[in-house]
Amino acid sequence: MIYLDNAATTKPCDEAKAAVMKGLEVFGNPSSLHRAGLDAELLVSDAREIIADALGVTPDEVYFTSGATESNNTAIFGAYKAHGKRKKRVVISSVEHPAVKNPAQELEDMGCEVVRISPDENGEINARDIFAAVNEDTFLVSCMLVNNENGYILPVEKAFSMIKKKYPQVITHCDCVQGFMKIPVKAKKLNADMISLSGHKIYAPKGIGALYVKKGVHIPPFMLGGGQEKGFRSGTESVPLICGFGAAVKKLAPNVSANFEKAADIQAYLIEKCNENGDVFVNSRKGGSPYVTSIAVNGLKSEVLLHYLEKREIYVSSGSACSKGKKSSVLKEFRYPEQSLDSTIRISFSIDTTKADIDALMEGIKSAQNDLCKVR
Ligand code: PLP
Repeated sequence: MIYLDNAATTKPCDEAKAAVMKGLEVFGNPSSLHRAGLDAELLVSDAREIIADALGVTPDEVYFTSGATESNNTAIFGAYKAHGKRKKRVVISSVEHPAVKNPAQELEDMGCEVVRISPDENGEINARDIFAAVNEDTFLVSCMLVNNENGYILPVEKAFSMIKKKYPQVITHCDCVQGFMKIPVKAKKLNADMISLSGHKIYAPKGIGALYVKKGVHIPPFMLGGGQEKGFRSGTESVPLICGFGAAVKKLAPNVSANFEKAADIQAYLIEKCNENGDVFVNSRKGGSPYVTSIAVNGLKSEVLLHYLEKREIYVSSGSACSKGKKSSVLKEFRYPEQSLDSTIRISFSIDTTKADIDALMEGIKSAQNDLCKVR
C-alpha cells in the first residue's frame, strides 16, 4: 500500500501503539484516589508534560480533548461565552477547516459579526488584512497555521503579534493540527492564547487531541460533568489514547527539523515529476508545508483518478477528506481555476514517504491519463 493521505489521518506508529497497550493495562481511573488510579494519573501527566514541552508551555496549560474538532469548538464557544455579551466581532481566515468555520458560522447566526479574511489575488493571506479586521469590538481571532488542503502556511505569528500589541485583550486561537510536529510550533512565538492539536494526524490514535490555553486566559468549560482536567473538560480521561498521543510526540519532537528537510526533498521531487508531465499542475505555492501538496491533473476528475489509483493501492485524497467529494470552497478561496477544482487531488506525506512512493504515484497518474476518459 502506498498511503499518501496523511493529512486525513496517519498510521499509528509502533511507539504510540505500545503506549496505548500500556494505557489499557494500567486501567485505573485517573480520578480514583487509590494506587490503580494514581498509576493511570501518572501516565496522563507524563503525556501532558511531553506535549507541553513540545509546545513550549507548562503542563497545566494543556487540556486533553477528543480531538481538534472539540478543541476548536471549546476555544471558539468558550471565547464567546466569556466575552460575547460585551463584544461582537470575530475574525477568522476564509480557508479554515470546518471545525472552525462552522462554529464561527454558528456565532454569526447567534448575532456575532464574523469577518472572514480571504487570500489576495496572488493567493496570499496577509497578516495586515487580519490585523486590519480587528477592532475594539473584537473578542476572538482564530487562524489556522497550515491549511489542510494545500499546505499553505498562514502568517499567524505576524498577525497575532500585531494584534496583541494593539489589542492585548483580544483572544488569539490557532488551529495547529497540520503544523504541530511538522513545522516548528511554539505557543509564545505564535502569540497564541489557545492552540488546537490532534493526535491522529501525527501517528497517534484517533479520538485524542489537546487544547492549550494560556495561563490567565479565562475560558469556561465546554463539557460539564465530573470536573476532570481541572474542571475544564469533564469526562474520564482516555488514558490509552493520551498515552499514544504522548508517545507519538515524544518520538517526533526531537526530529521536526530533520523530518521537515526530508519531506521538503520529497516534495521537490514530486513537483519536478509533476512538471515533467505536461498535464499535471501544482496548485500549492512555494513556501508551504512540505507535507501537503495539491495538484490538478488536467482532464481527469479528482474522484475518478482517486479510485483509479486506489486500484493500484495508492491512496490520495480529493481536496480534503472532510469535504467528501464536494467541490472545495477553500480551494476556490485560493483562486484556483474553476477547471482545476474538478481535477485536484491532495498528496500528503508521512515521515515514511519515499521517492519510490512518488514514482509509483506518477506512474499511476500517467497510466490513468492513458486509460481514462477526459472530463467533458
Ligand atoms: N483542523 C484541521 C486543520 C484539520 O485538518 C482537521 C482534520 O482534518 C481538524 C481540525 C479536525 O481534527 P480532528 O479529526 O482531530 O477532530
